[in-house]
Amino acid sequence: MVDAEDQVIVGLEVHCQLDTKSKLFCGCSTDYRSDGPNTHVCPICLGLPGAMPALNKRAIQYAMKVAKALNCEVLNESEFSRKNYFYPDLDKAYQITQYDKPLAEGGYVEIESDEGGERKIRLTRIHVEEDPGRLVHMGNVERGKYSLVDYNRAGIPLIEIVSEPDMRSPKEARKFLNKLRAKLEYLSVFDSEKEGSLRVDANISIKGNERVEVKNITSYKGVEKALLFEVTRQKNLIRRGQKIERETRHYLEARGVTQSARSKEQENDYRYFPEPDLRPLRVKSWVDGIILPELPDARRERFIAEYGCSLNHARTLTGELKLANFFEKVVASDKAGLAPLASTWIADTLIGELNYRDMSLDKVEPAAMTGLVLLLKAGTITDKSGVEVLRVMLDQRLKNETVETPDAIVKRLNLAKTTGDSGAIAAAVEAAITENPKALEDYRAGKGGALNFLVGQVMKKTRGKADPAELNRMLTEALKKREA
Ligand SMILES: [Zn+2]
Repeated sequence: MVDAEDQVIVGLEVHCQLDTKSKLFCGCSTDYRSDGPNTHVCPICLGLPGAMPALNKRAIQYAMKVAKALNCEVLNESEFSRKNYFYPDLDKAYQITQYDKPLAEGGYVEIESDEGGERKIRLTRIHVEEDPGRLVHMGNVERGKYSLVDYNRAGIPLIEIVSEPDMRSPKEARKFLNKLRAKLEYLSVFDSEKEGSLRVDANISIKGNERVEVKNITSYKGVEKALLFEVTRQKNLIRRGQKIERETRHYLEARGVTQSARSKEQENDYRYFPEPDLRPLRVKSWVDGIILPELPDARRERFIAEYGCSLNHARTLTGELKLANFFEKVVASDKAGLAPLASTWIADTLIGELNYRDMSLDKVEPAAMTGLVLLLKAGTITDKSGVEVLRVMLDQRLKNETVETPDAIVKRLNLAKTTGDSGAIAAAVEAAITENPKALEDYRAGKGGALNFLVGQVMKKTRGKADPAELNRMLTEALKKREA
């Protein structure tokens, strides 16, 4: 039971870089990450006097696509504003953003609630803005002697998606973020693998207390961790009868803690006013022309209907665009035949093995996975050997060795299932019983554990290659014979 006073209230502001070729107001390339500092700049994104911004139509199209996919209402007229502040990452001393007339309002994202059902997290608004530059601190932020500034990022198109304070736990915030990321990826407007392509400000409070803003969290996992830290910190303060200050805090990723920011900015410090060099945006009529691709929820339902996936497997498989595509490639040659095994082996086993190795899915060939699933389906290898084959393939890839096919691995390691006729299991069964007279005695005395013990002994002798059902049958038979 959650106490009413203990209720956690979370709202997120998510900044996503739109994956356009050029920046929001100039022709500079957005593909800057592998280039030297300040090589993707021009008078416009540097904000030199007299330079005039020209709006990137593609960026607005992308933002509209997001607005439609998130069920938002695009406003008849939106407007760019200048947000004025002095900070070295902003060379022109203002950021072009949207203030009181954003591109779109309302909308929602559906997530799986902590209780199991679906829950709608409402959105407040989506607006378009330019990314500021990037500061590189020499040493650490607190004590470093100096910082370098790189304006390559200045002017990259961003959308800011603001949620209502509808989330009730750090876990729900993570689910919201995962769902949002999946949707943006399915729309092909966002690349989550680019460093810094998503940044989050999180507002968090405990019901009846002041709200704290944690700024600039730059990793998906960081959001949940920062919020968990805040929940504990705030609840401890309340327990000790102390007041929670309304403040802005920074999340220190390496230490997993939040820290009070010294400067306190108020909204009115920014002196917003309409950007005089850009006309109001009237693009509502574009909405009808936007054709959305299949989105995660629709794909999840299709996976259930078309492949017979369980709800959990369908959720996992469609939760990332790459994973969903991978699954469909693996089963393409025989959808009905391969899907049941493939969904379990990908959603449960493969993901677990990849996470354990901190490896990306890109490293796995769909054809190799198909090969493995075929071997399992044909009953050539046991599940236990299947895991071994998978591990060998992943480890070979990790070490940059030539990756063998599942067939080759089975052959080389002699993993093919031993069948009853071959006599190898029969011999192992006989040996296990003879070597363990105590187990035989226990079995005769009706002790259930004895059979399991003997199964384990035979498995050891056959190195996991015996089919468990077959083995059970043979062992029971052999024991009965001795009883007679
Ligand atoms: Zn530029």
